[in-house]
Amino acid sequence: MVPVKEIVSKSILRKYKKIESWFLTFYGMNLYRGCAHNCVYCDGRSEKYQVDGEFGEDVIVKINAIDLLRRELDSKRKRIPFKQGYVGVGGGVGDSYQPVEKKYELTRKTLHILYEKKFPVHVLTKSTLVKRDIDILKKINEQNRAIVSMSFSSADDKISSLFEPRVPSPSERLETIRFLKGEGIACGMYLMPVIPFITDTPEQIENTVKKAKNAGVDFIIFSGMTLKEGRQKNYFMEVIHKNYLDLVVDYHNIYKSNKWGSPIETYHNSIYQTFNIISRRFKVPQRIPPHLFSDLLSENDLVVVILEHIDYFMKMQGKKSPYGYAAYSISQLKEPLSKMKSDLKSIRGVGSFTEKIILEILETGISSYYEKLLLG
Ligand code: SF4
Repeated sequence: MVPVKEIVSKSILRKYKKIESWFLTFYGMNLYRGCAHNCVYCDGRSEKYQVDGEFGEDVIVKINAIDLLRRELDSKRKRIPFKQGYVGVGGGVGDSYQPVEKKYELTRKTLHILYEKKFPVHVLTKSTLVKRDIDILKKINEQNRAIVSMSFSSADDKISSLFEPRVPSPSERLETIRFLKGEGIACGMYLMPVIPFITDTPEQIENTVKKAKNAGVDFIIFSGMTLKEGRQKNYFMEVIHKNYLDLVVDYHNIYKSNKWGSPIETYHNSIYQTFNIISRRFKVPQRIPPHLFSDLLSENDLVVVILEHIDYFMKMQGKKSPYGYAAYSISQLKEPLSKMKSDLKSIRGVGSFTEKIILEILETGISSYYEKLLLG
């Protein structure tokens, strides 16, 4: 067990400025800071996130998280009602089902509160410990909805043992997805990050997508790896030097120093293309599909999410897209779109075609154009 430090936190719930269309959340939380899973590529290690101590070795437990959450979710104390959408549990700077959870059970208690308060929940984890909470996840799912997503860098157990040294193997994670699906819970795979030149090859991606499909995932969301200068990059490159010396130059060629640590565009585009072709071949949605959210969101947020998803597919095809901008403008509106039907083009970024998409969503709850992009 890694050293654990208990702290009293000032707040727990993080609210986003607009709905997060990768996860369909308005709210998220980090119950723990730092992560004993110690994935080599973890960007929680970057100085940007200000996680105290040695990342992977020290874990901070927000000991008052449950009291805080009860208070922050008390609707009587709020002037503005809570936004509709999933509440995100996990991700960020520490896995909510890392080993300390066995003792503290902050995640389990959080799920109980979210059930009492009738929120839908989206859990993101790499740990099979999530199975422990199947009783409460099923209750949430029956009442509202629950999604459990597991993150992977590949489905290759051997590679994972080097880059994700303290995490259950991909085979065990896939087995967990099978189990959850058998219990009626929707499951996603976050295939992020793929590790350049190691798990981003067509063979590796195909192997991962195929296994995910066989396990029954409802969607796979894909992303490349960022390497921020400083702790994160140094730690990661040390492992590459030791184990893949011949790749060092390739890494230098794609990671030029920039604030976000993102790889160069040509590399980024090529891995997305590979994933796009393979996921379409296996008919796996690359975004959370509408049947998991269309009845949960306000009409404006439904439009925002669908436009952002369309934006993703446009950019994937190398096309310019006005949809992201239009989505952002809509996310800032106070008025429901259904009251502005004749005036939609006054919204920044909304042209004739976007107007047509919005009207169809308002009328039917879905966009046929979007559905074609998602599954076509
Ligand atoms: S499980 Fe997630 S948060 Fe934990 S070390 Fe791995 S990537 Fe980071």
